[in-house]
Amino acid sequence: TYVVTENCIRCKFMDCVEVCPVDCFYEGENMLVIHPDECIDCGVCEPECPAEAILPDTEEAAEKFLELNREYSEVW
Ligand code: SF4
Repeated sequence: TYVVTENCIRCKFMDCVEVCPVDCFYEGENMLVIHPDECIDCGVCEPECPAEAILPDTEEAAEKFLELNREYSEVW
């Protein structure tokens, strides 16, 4: 799964949301998040993010954001 990380905070671009084929982006408190169970791991959103905030969960920097992505995406 892909994960939205801290670079997303205060980013106003929504390019990632528009390209996601399964609409698995959700609005968190101050950033967008990806629902980890809905993401199909296609990778399309990663290069679209101007803030380079989207990382695969295999990256160390993404690990600590995985639970936050789940938490925020399950509120709705
Ligand atoms: Fe959506 Fe694909 Fe990005 Fe997952 S990797 S959030 S399915 S665009």
